[in-house]
Amino acid sequence: APADMLPPESLPRGRLTEEIRDAARVLGRELSSVADAISRAHRSQAAYGQTLDKAASSIDAAGDGETLKTIVGGLSTATRRVQRENETLEKKLDASTKEVARLREHLEQVRRDAMTDALTNLANRKAFDEHLAAACQQVEADGEPMVLAVLDVDHFKRFNDTWGHQTGDQVLRYVASVIGRYGQLPRIAARYGGEEFAIIFPRESSKQVEVALEAIRKEIASRSLRRRSTNDELGAVTISAGFAVRRPGETGATLLERADAALYASKRTGRNRVTSAESLDIAA
Ligand code: C2E
Repeated sequence: APADMLPPESLPRGRLTEEIRDAARVLGRELSSVADAISRAHRSQAAYGQTLDKAASSIDAAGDGETLKTIVGGLSTATRRVQRENETLEKKLDASTKEVARLREHLEQVRRDAMTDALTNLANRKAFDEHLAAACQQVEADGEPMVLAVLDVDHFKRFNDTWGHQTGDQVLRYVASVIGRYGQLPRIAARYGGEEFAIIFPRESSKQVEVALEAIRKEIASRSLRRRSTNDELGAVTISAGFAVRRPGETGATLLERADAALYASKRTGRNRVTSAESLDIAA
């Protein structure tokens, strides 16, 4: 595929590395300034201790009220200094806590961006791979079923070639908007490749998934899109889908292979249809 047809990376790897490096730098700076404030407070408290010791021996030696007054005056000055240092330390810690919280929020946003497909706002391939592996592990541990579906826009290349990439992108956004609506949590909807989408259905049966996929297929095909710039009628967009029910012990990779084989059966037999991997097993 030409480079401009590849799925856009939401956040280039270089920028992600840069963001993490910046965050580490800020965190390092915050930590060392807190360490400085702590050691300053520590030093001033040690000095305070010495002042107290000195005062104690002066009190032993002191005979008159004037000397005592001077000693007490010195003590209260030292006490105020320690208090000021402690206040500074407290403020510094407070500011650092806020800065670290802000940093954490920012990194969380960066992480979300890195997992999201910028064009469709669905999970991207990286996120999908992680979700798929995690879901397989989870349902395996819980002894629950799980279904994986892959969906592909029919004749997408034709849309692109006829109407241009911008319209192609709109078609993807349209398809994604329907898939996303049906793919809400606990389901996971992702843009898996250029015009390829996937939905993970944890804890759902083959029947439930078939109903959902049929609804998606019909809804996508039900609307006729228009090209925004010229108002040309684009006609109906259709999708083909395939799904596979996870077998006990099965990994994401082979589950995906079987769902893909079902998708290609849909393509081969005329598109705009949903095929289950099980029906292929029966046919074989
Ligand atoms: P978008 O252009 O960002 O539009 C987002 C949502 O705003 C649409 O969600 C729809 O609810 C609303 N919207 C925007 N423009 C119009 C309009 O002219 N008429 C109406 N009735 N509503 C409008 P929706 O429908 O889920 O579409 C999601 C995305 O799919 C759109 O994002 C766009 O990229 C694409 N799309 C949908 N229909 C068409 C279409 O007829 N032509 C083109 N070129 N793109 C479309």
